[in-house]
Amino acid sequence: MSNTSLRNRRLPLKVGITGGIGSGKTLACRIFTTLGIPVFNADRAARDLYTSHEGVRDEMVRMFGPEIYLPGGEIHRSLLASVIFNNPRALEAVNRRIHPLVREAFAGWFVTQTGPYVLFESALLFETGTWKSMDLTLLVTAPEELRIHRVTRRDRVSPAEVTARMNHQWKDVQKKELASYILLNDEAHPLLDQILDTDQKIRKIWEISANG
Ligand code: ATP
Repeated sequence: MSNTSLRNRRLPLKVGITGGIGSGKTLACRIFTTLGIPVFNADRAARDLYTSHEGVRDEMVRMFGPEIYLPGGEIHRSLLASVIFNNPRALEAVNRRIHPLVREAFAGWFVTQTGPYVLFESALLFETGTWKSMDLTLLVTAPEELRIHRVTRRDRVSPAEVTARMNHQWKDVQKKELASYILLNDEAHPLLDQILDTDQKIRKIWEISANG
């Protein structure tokens, strides 16, 4: 745990939540939302930046051509994915541009929040290094076959496509070493119970830091 918020007593704790494709982090965040926990979705914030940030738009067009945007002005997500996942330099250039802006958007949002903690939801929390600016981290995990099964059903894609996407993310073993808490969403261990338990633990940490 870093001590960024512990020093600033009354601020909510920043809790990063992540998980590989199909692990169930969206579902987990929905449950936390029902507990009244504010969730900042970094992947959505990045998508918004592609659309609404003029500097980002200009740079994307310069790097990838105007076809990187759909006629309606939205980023062409599948084209972008296929370009950057086949070109590590382009991926790095895009990340260098987007991630600081996402962090800035989060910082602006964070100062308006109250309560014991907020969630920063990001598929690449560990890969981008953003976990370092969090007080705690949560990792949602599930067996790989189950994740592939879920995503093939949800996105109507082939198992090979899911595996290709997975290969751009760290393996769970690597993420587990950095996670403060792990939520096992394997449909055998009830996710709700694990979330309620984790919620209590985080609230206790916040209480200790707020009164300490
Ligand atoms: P991605 O990174 O691809 O967005 P994710 O980690 O956000 O994935 P979800 O979208 O939450 O994953 O879950 C993937 C799919 O699996 C969804 O269709 C979701 O409804 C389903 N799912 C997740 N967890 C469970 C569960 N415990 N029981 C049944 N279905 C589940």
